[in-house]
Amino acid sequence: MSTTDLDQLKQSLLARNIKYLLPTYVDMHGVPKTKMVPIAHMERMMGGSELFTGAALDGVPQDVSDEEVAAHPDPDSCMVVPWRDDCAWFSSDLWTEGKPFEPCNRGILKKVLAQAADMGYRVNCGIEAEFYVFDDNENKVDPLSDLPHLEKPAYDSVRLMDNLDVWLSETVDAMNELGWDVYSFDHEDGIGQFEIDFDYAEALTMADRFVFLRVLTHEMARKHGAYASFMPKPYGDKAGNGAHYNMSLAGVDGSNLFVADKEDPRGCGLSEIGYQFIAGVLKHLPAIQAVSAPTVNSYKRLIVKGSTSGYTWAPCFVSYGNNNRTNTVRIPGGGGRVELRSADSACNPYLGMAMMIAAGLEGIRDKLDPGEPHRENLYYKSDEERLAAGVNWLPRTLEEAVTAFAEDPLSREVFGDVMFDAWVEFKRAEWLSYLNHVSDWERDRYLKFF
Ligand code: GLU
Ligand code: MG
Repeated sequence: MSTTDLDQLKQSLLARNIKYLLPTYVDMHGVPKTKMVPIAHMERMMGGSELFTGAALDGVPQDVSDEEVAAHPDPDSCMVVPWRDDCAWFSSDLWTEGKPFEPCNRGILKKVLAQAADMGYRVNCGIEAEFYVFDDNENKVDPLSDLPHLEKPAYDSVRLMDNLDVWLSETVDAMNELGWDVYSFDHEDGIGQFEIDFDYAEALTMADRFVFLRVLTHEMARKHGAYASFMPKPYGDKAGNGAHYNMSLAGVDGSNLFVADKEDPRGCGLSEIGYQFIAGVLKHLPAIQAVSAPTVNSYKRLIVKGSTSGYTWAPCFVSYGNNNRTNTVRIPGGGGRVELRSADSACNPYLGMAMMIAAGLEGIRDKLDPGEPHRENLYYKSDEERLAAGVNWLPRTLEEAVTAFAEDPLSREVFGDVMFDAWVEFKRAEWLSYLNHVSDWERDRYLKFF
């Protein structure tokens, strides 16, 4: 950014009475970290003055004795914090020793986007964020509305309106003030579960926004004695929190290259390179899933039944199809985009998207063929019937997913050596810690059984 542009940005922030700047970046979980910088020091901050010791965080792989990482804020990512209108938030790239820090999450996504750009593509993405809002008063897992629990609360009007005055309209207003263009929001399939849908954007911008959305929603709920939970499956018998990635590629002129060619023999409303992109995603789906559904709990969401409403609407199989939600990779009605349904709200969007895009680009480069789309209800089929149709289960646990990630050469290519090793080591340790934990389920079942 030129000095003049920087000065203009500073003047516009001063005109809005901004006092403090936050040069943020994320750890491997996608949780933002920062320092605060009084606006008088903006120039220094934009040049990377703010230093952090990565060893203090998860997945900012550094030794205690290493040079610190420096946050280099992206001026285009600047947002005035809606619940603190004296603060401006920036998403940053991490550098160290005067050059980009190879394991930087944002840098990893930017590298894949640069590959797309070399092929003549700009990547667009919309993320459908699902989350629960619970009462925080007694630290219970309780929805805010005290209306009786329905077995099928999806699209419930009264519960939606009950929440509107509490935290929901403030959240939607804040998103619109940021220019995100919310186009609809609803009560989802679990009591106290919501989804707010807003316009797609260029993939890097969407990743920055998704990180901020989690913070924003939580802060809006907190003002009302509540909290927002992005845990993938807070209840065993209610729907989980998906964060479906809706991807498309645009040409240099901005036109959507996934819009169906005149002849779309498979009839789902997608272009040939769209299908090739899907074939690449299917090829690497288990590894992508490890990153886009990255917690122990994520795998409790990816089941067929596990909601009082009947089904979970969560994906379970390595398959693609038309508007049919029993596929992991879906081409929503209207076509022109590819939806990855296995991603959940606990994902690190930079890393999750980087894996999906890299896989899709490989599909285009190698002209891969995804076969015929699945239009049938895959939930209803037996394992034998699915196998006969060439449809495998997705990894069923974090361990299976991490193993698939570690064995897929694409993972190291996308993450780079340092982040790959750090990520696999952390996730294996997380799985082991879960495995060694003795749960209530085990005590209930075995303590007095014998
Ligand atoms: N909550 C579901 C999931 O876990 C998705 C429901 C929907 O399609 O909106 O992915
Ligand atoms: Mg939904």
